[in-house]
Amino acid sequence: MHRVYLDHAASTPLEPEIHAVLDRLGRHACGNPSSLHWHGREARRLVEDAREEVARLLGVEPAEVIFTSGATEANNLALAGWRSEEGDPPRRIALSTIEHASVFECLEASGRSSSFVPVDAAGRIRMDRLEEILAEGVDLVAIIAASNEVGTIQDVERAAALCDRAGVHLHLDAVQLVARGRLDLGKLVGVGTASISGHKLGGPPGCGALFVRRGVHLAPILRGGGQERGLRAGTENLSGIVGLGEASRLAASLMEERLATLRRLERVFLAALAEALPAAHLQGAPREESLPGLLSIRFPGIKAERFLLALDLEGVSVSMGSACASGASRPSRVLEALGIPLVENLETLRISLGWHQDADEIALAVDRMKKVALRLARA
Ligand code: PMP
Repeated sequence: MHRVYLDHAASTPLEPEIHAVLDRLGRHACGNPSSLHWHGREARRLVEDAREEVARLLGVEPAEVIFTSGATEANNLALAGWRSEEGDPPRRIALSTIEHASVFECLEASGRSSSFVPVDAAGRIRMDRLEEILAEGVDLVAIIAASNEVGTIQDVERAAALCDRAGVHLHLDAVQLVARGRLDLGKLVGVGTASISGHKLGGPPGCGALFVRRGVHLAPILRGGGQERGLRAGTENLSGIVGLGEASRLAASLMEERLATLRRLERVFLAALAEALPAAHLQGAPREESLPGLLSIRFPGIKAERFLLALDLEGVSVSMGSACASGASRPSRVLEALGIPLVENLETLRISLGWHQDADEIALAVDRMKKVALRLARA
């Protein structure tokens, strides 16, 4: 059976170029980047080359990039590690109601007082409310640059400008936006930190990065070594970092092409779906305000969990809410934040297309979705 993968927002296949780079690396690089000998210096050079590629993708300085084990760690480091100029942790933090669990639960566990910035029915963060919350006084704001569940792209320029004007540090979870859009952090002076993840970008899982603007104070979470400017102790994940560097280089040069492909495939998918299952209903913001190829779709009358499992048997992989929460059939907190009622919440699938797919594969997936949906509806 030809399996069709429609869960690229959870993880992307490794780019073929990266396979080749990692294969060469496996045969030559064995040193520890902290070692003084030739093998160590070679490993260090590879880490620093990768740092330059990540920095170029984000429009920042290489010295402002800290490698981590992924965006979960990067988000934790940015939030749990934040310190004021005097070295104090934040007293009050504002976050949107549609943050990823790695932001949401990190702040919940911190026990610090949080203010929630609501979203509208399309998943847009309410900038008027952010402005009010900033006026009430917070030390730190955390916002997801584009939603991993519904795809809504936020007005990050405006959020950064509001935070800059209030003299408050903005943390951006930029994981999905950097994978399916453009982000120039050099221009967004209000952004103090931002996280990205390799495996959403065609790189390997287990490696990500945190942008830390020069002058921002962070305390490390992991201690026991001076790596990454003392912010992230532990021997660097050399293959992960090299893979992330190459993924960043490819993303910087191929993004327009990828976005055009994703938009074209999205049109193919939505046209085929409208014909096959006319009751299916797209949620979130208009497509021009959303990440290309990341779709939140409600199938009225069909429980998402049953649909997902039945589609899997037919060779189509999709997700419910965010992948991290799909072990349990709980309603999505993010869809709740958009005001989507419980029944509709539990009928929602996330479908995310990839830039290496073609129209035939998308049409095949929609055919199978139709077959499964009609069978489940009859049952
Ligand atoms: N933030 C967002 C928006 C994500 O989609 C993800 C991946 N599920 C993460 C953070 C966590 O990234 P990682 O898998 O690299 O820890």
